[in-house]
Amino acid sequence: MTDVVLTTDRTMMSNHRQKEFLGFGTTGAPVIFPEFVWLWMFAPKMKCDTRGRPWQAPYGLRKLEARLKDQGFDAEIIVPHKLENALSDAKVIIISHHDFFGFGPPSSTFASLFEKETVNARSFKRLMEEPFIAEAKKRGVTIIAGGPAAWQWRYREQLMEKWGIDCVFDGEGEREIVNLIGKAMAGEQLPKFMEMSHNDAPTLEEISCIRDASVNGLVEIMRGCPRGCKFCSVTNRPLRFIPLDRVEQELKVNAEAGITGGTFHSEDVLLYGAKGLEPNPEKLIELNILGKRYYRNLAWAHASVSAIVKGERDHKLISRLEEIIIDGRQKWWGAEIGVETASVPLASKIMPQKAKPYDIRDWPELVKEAAGIMQDVSLVPAMTVITGLPDETEDDVLRTVDLIDDLWDFKAIIMPMFFVPMGMLSQNDWFKAYKLSDAHMELLKKCLTHGTRQGKDILRDYFSDRWYGPLMKPFYWTFINVIEVFAKRGGYWSEPDLDRREERKDRTGAENA
Ligand code: SF4
Repeated sequence: MTDVVLTTDRTMMSNHRQKEFLGFGTTGAPVIFPEFVWLWMFAPKMKCDTRGRPWQAPYGLRKLEARLKDQGFDAEIIVPHKLENALSDAKVIIISHHDFFGFGPPSSTFASLFEKETVNARSFKRLMEEPFIAEAKKRGVTIIAGGPAAWQWRYREQLMEKWGIDCVFDGEGEREIVNLIGKAMAGEQLPKFMEMSHNDAPTLEEISCIRDASVNGLVEIMRGCPRGCKFCSVTNRPLRFIPLDRVEQELKVNAEAGITGGTFHSEDVLLYGAKGLEPNPEKLIELNILGKRYYRNLAWAHASVSAIVKGERDHKLISRLEEIIIDGRQKWWGAEIGVETASVPLASKIMPQKAKPYDIRDWPELVKEAAGIMQDVSLVPAMTVITGLPDETEDDVLRTVDLIDDLWDFKAIIMPMFFVPMGMLSQNDWFKAYKLSDAHMELLKKCLTHGTRQGKDILRDYFSDRWYGPLMKPFYWTFINVIEVFAKRGGYWSEPDLDRREERKDRTGAENA
């Protein structure tokens, strides 16, 4: 049996029907349909061997597992539905999550709106309340929680007591977690919270390559982000580009496990190999050719508006990448794109570097130009907008509403998210649904209406790369239709108001004159 068991709950240990974006469904509150339908649609159980070792596991857990094995530990990832046996001899359990309690931006938005705990938070709670976790604790197992949502435990310290969490580790794990687990194995007392500063970030040499497949073929190509947005926890982590030979090593691991499509992970894929904030065409072409050598379908985790515009204006880069990615087997590709706000005054305060190398005053125009480029190359993004930011005015919100009207026919999902106090704004208050103004409601309705309309269009091709696509499509089609019916009946439907937009444009023009 295994000394160190790494695990997480079902919503994380799933490949979301081989569609990474469907994972967002687990951040929803289980309304309209019962929770088991949400789990079936967005987080089916992961296939595993008789010992409970998963076919694919979340990338962060795979990285940690590899690092521990490289350091000589007896460590293994186990799926949550096979944990009971695996824990009989374990000495340490590591539990990682992107959103333990549903406090992340999408989950807290839905939880706050519907006043109901989200699917991911419920699933995690169920895992922690399994009797075999309490039994393992009685036997003296040490439990360490970590991952991108480690900060959430600061708001739930009483649950650390209740569930027997000995230590919460916050930060990049490679360097310190090895010492921490060594201490746990030796029976030493661990600190309740352990936070890594950016100076403790591991070097490239300390980052191990995954040994087994990651969920949906995710492969990290760089860490860190230089843009310094004030609301973001990634801000100012040192930039590290993963060398191509190591990217290839991980692509091979996934391809050999039978994974045919995957995602390059980075806070901005278009900054891979960049000098400063300008894309490096040669490196990006090399990277994407490499990706397509191993995967039939390739996606990018994130890309930035400004790098899309800069790359296309100066080098026709996005069009050149389309020629590599789109072929007879892949019709489109996806990426998450942070828009956050269309208000120049607000953008200048919270994300002054976001438009670089352009001026933040051009931000709304850059977003529209990037949308045009993406439309032309069949890049279908999930765009995020944040509302409830400190110092946000009604006018700021309405400018974002206008931007959504401008993007009405753009094939994309626009995800509204309430502000969550993270990064340099971590001392600020949470934004809650009870604070919603009419302008906020209009923003949420617009996103819902736009998303429902575009979601149906996206669904047409969404499963086209899967043999079972025609069987799955009707379920998701029904899901979107039912949401549309409820939204219309409940007064949550909002088409663009062209008159109001023209009025606002006149007013803004007069103000600027
Ligand atoms: S929000 Fe995006 S662009 Fe801004 S610092 Fe975070 S990762 Fe970088």
